[in-house]
Amino acid sequence: MHDPSPAPDEGSGTLFGLDALAPGPSSGPSASGPPPSRPLFRDSAAARRLLPVREIHAEPAAAASPRGRQVLARFPDARVVEVDSHWGIPGLHGNEGNVERWVRLKGETLVLGERKTLTTRPNGRSADWIAPGASNGCAMACAYCYVPRRKGYANPVTVFTNVDRIIAHLGRHIARQGPKREPNQCDADAWVYDVGENGDCSVDALICDNTADLVHAFRQWPTAKASFATKFVNPDLLALDPRGRTRIRFSLMPPDDSRLLDVRTSPVAERIAAAGDFLDAGYEVHFNLSPVVVRPGWEEAWAELLRHLDDVLPERVKRQAAAEVIMLTHNRDLHEVNLGWHPRAEEVLWRPEIQQAKRSENGALNVRYRADVKAGAVDRLRALVAARTPWLRIRYAF
Ligand code: SF4
Repeated sequence: MHDPSPAPDEGSGTLFGLDALAPGPSSGPSASGPPPSRPLFRDSAAARRLLPVREIHAEPAAAASPRGRQVLARFPDARVVEVDSHWGIPGLHGNEGNVERWVRLKGETLVLGERKTLTTRPNGRSADWIAPGASNGCAMACAYCYVPRRKGYANPVTVFTNVDRIIAHLGRHIARQGPKREPNQCDADAWVYDVGENGDCSVDALICDNTADLVHAFRQWPTAKASFATKFVNPDLLALDPRGRTRIRFSLMPPDDSRLLDVRTSPVAERIAAAGDFLDAGYEVHFNLSPVVVRPGWEEAWAELLRHLDDVLPERVKRQAAAEVIMLTHNRDLHEVNLGWHPRAEEVLWRPEIQQAKRSENGALNVRYRADVKAGAVDRLRALVAARTPWLRIRYAF
């Protein structure tokens, strides 16, 4: 059952959730979605409440492509606005006036574009490689999210319609690597590719088949594995048959923090409850313990969350689980934006007395916990995991 986050312009009540699945109209053309015999969550009233799309900004070539046509058919009542580029759309990106309608914009607006740059970057922490994503932006609105920074204040989902080119690029990249010879913390055997760095693939799957296409592509690559973090439980993903080649990482934080900070996401308990189903459907299921927000009472809250994990997860999930621990990184510009739409979030995110600022390569002023605070918190969280969930291997803590 969804426990709605306190988004300023969201009404209260159930937004979405497994129990809210309701049959809806046909999903339009689909090359590779789940079988049509079962009702699709993406056609449910709950999914449409998350994405009541009214306006689609589209590059002409993207709109004319098969994937673009699939998206336009899903939202036939949306107004289509032609744009030269999916990047820097006047009135949508970087517009201070959007702060007041920050959350609404995320659900009511989509962008269709073609991804021009196909670059896979080495990572080594969360994954071996960061793949060029098939989307950028998100319909959810976590107050600490770094995804909007480069596009400014509003960053609804941009769907890249040329996912076929992304998959062809990945195929070449994977072939060039050959087999993985040395196990590392990312994976013992496979090269791990993060396919969702700048969005949430579970939400993208409400819009079109990009996520399905990526999951299906990785089935054919025995030396590689897709990986993405998510805060949204989309039951349609259960039908994609990933055959162990996709790792889904459910992001977790104590429910009280999540209700305050994870605006528009699935409740934490729902993400945990879904783990067994995703494992049974052929996914590898890991967890992101992130972001860890240091606030009064944080240790007790995390201890309780870990106790809950230990209580409810099936043994088969525990046997294969691993976790990433990521301490909060915040940002001065985002802090200023958040004060305009969700100031209560800043009471826990903005803690200058225990944080330090550092200018990043792109000039942004990022804010992290002071080294001593961070080291102490990581040690404490490791100790809590060792005590409460000793089966949960921490892949890395950062
Ligand atoms: S779910 Fe992820 S991408 Fe979406 S708003 Fe939250 S942190 Fe950002």
